[in-house]
Amino acid sequence: MSLISPPTDHHPGDHRRPEVAGRVVLPGDPDWDQARAAWNLSVDQRPAMVVHASSAEDVAAAVRFAAASGHRVAVQTTGHGAATLPDLSGVILVRTADLHGVAVDPTSRRARVAAGTLARDLVAAAAEHGLAFPAGSSPDVGVLGYTLGGGIGWLGRRHGLACNHVVAAEVVTADGVLRRVDAERDPDLFWALRGGGGSFAAVTALEVELVPLREAHIGTLLWPLDRAVEVLHAWAVWTNELPDSVTSIARLLRFPPLPDLPDHLRGRQLVAVEAVFLDGVAVADRLLRPLRALRPETDTFATVPVPRLGELHGDPEHPVPSDGDHLLLRALPPAAVDGLLAAAGPGAETGLLAVDVRHLGGALGRTSTAHGALDRLDASYAVFAVGVPMTPELAAAIPDWLAALQEGLAPWAADQAYLNFAERPIDPARLFTDDRFARLRAVKASYDPDDRFVANHQVPGSPA
Ligand SMILES: Cc1cc2nc3c(=O)[nH]c(=O)nc-3n(C[C@H](O)[C@H](O)[C@H](O)COP(=O)(O)OP(=O)(O)OC[C@H]3O[C@@H](n4cnc5c(N)ncnc54)[C@H](O)[C@@H]3O)c2cc1C
Repeated sequence: MSLISPPTDHHPGDHRRPEVAGRVVLPGDPDWDQARAAWNLSVDQRPAMVVHASSAEDVAAAVRFAAASGHRVAVQTTGHGAATLPDLSGVILVRTADLHGVAVDPTSRRARVAAGTLARDLVAAAAEHGLAFPAGSSPDVGVLGYTLGGGIGWLGRRHGLACNHVVAAEVVTADGVLRRVDAERDPDLFWALRGGGGSFAAVTALEVELVPLREAHIGTLLWPLDRAVEVLHAWAVWTNELPDSVTSIARLLRFPPLPDLPDHLRGRQLVAVEAVFLDGVAVADRLLRPLRALRPETDTFATVPVPRLGELHGDPEHPVPSDGDHLLLRALPPAAVDGLLAAAGPGAETGLLAVDVRHLGGALGRTSTAHGALDRLDASYAVFAVGVPMTPELAAAIPDWLAALQEGLAPWAADQAYLNFAERPIDPARLFTDDRFARLRAVKASYDPDDRFVANHQVPGSPA
């Protein structure tokens, strides 16, 4: 299978642009606004130029051109994580959407994933062989950004973080050289890429291990939001006893009256529990009893092929403006549930579209034998909340609503933060343990001494 799209454009002899086969778009070009747009439409990114890489060689040429011309380089798959990129003045934005494709080897249960591949395409290719990748909730997130930043998905409590399923990476390092890195070749760089984010190299492909899985029992239970007190307290207790084969999310949802929402959601305020069960319908039915006893108005549980897991969370599948924030929780005792409800439950002054509490633990909380910079999450739950700033009034109010949530949950906040959910700038040291952060800084200093690569939640090089 070809992993690379054919060349699209060429400008030989134009010294303002790198010599690449893919398209280079400069400010003032007719498609400039389209080329620089991130998935998160709230982000107004203004790089020096955009290079649409059509091959790994294009990425290498862009990095060499940047070094020669004094630019820095940011690599972007989709722009889902664009909110925390620094100012892109003087930065060449290398976009990888044209560099997509998946080749699955069912014998070794491995897949080679080109840099621009979306989660849905990896999941679909793996499913053809009865295999699965621990993808996140959204099918149109880029595999690369998601995996380099950790990767918490529906298979997480059984199969751990996605980053620790990486067995090799094809990269362009800051010297413009293409390399394949793994546990033997450039092991420090390979370690840093697995959970350390995009600070260290431009990754042109990942080789990942897949897990055998054809189907899962999945669904959503929905109640009106005024039932949130009893539902959230019951869910928090319920998660204490679950096996690793169950991953679930409790949600407080406030849908605007938008015409493209389905009837049962449009304009509604709801509390939801979404869950994925990997051990079959009988186990699921037994475990779901305490939640079904609360008589949800909607119960969608059914056994489905793995690709349908991408539909469960209902993430938007097209670019939207969003403003979100997260925190990890050590525990979720009744007082923490009350704190959450005070900030975002029925009666709270909030217009956040969704406040999600993801159950972590299981394999997400255990150190696997072969792991990279992010071995585990030292927390029991992840809270992610998001608002859609459709009007200036909403854009002004959302930060206060997010802050109220942080405040209400502060007593239970874990020390650690999670790179992929951090949609506001934070101290990158908070993403890792002290020893891991020091090692990441040393890897950055060694592989990118001139700080060529710009990433969200950038790891700085070692101090001089
Ligand atoms: C709707 C939605 C749902 C989400 N669901 C989940 C979820 O279930 N679980 C979860 O863990 N996260 C989730 N996230 C967070 C998501 O994983 C991060 O935003 C992630 O960074 C997105 O990756 P991307 O490649 O699409 O984004 P991008 O913005 O393109 O990339 C983010 C960063 O990754 C790095 N990067 C990307 N590609 C490369 C490359 N080729 N080489 C080097 N560095 C690179 C860069 O540092 C870049 O700044 C979700 C986000 C959204 C908006």
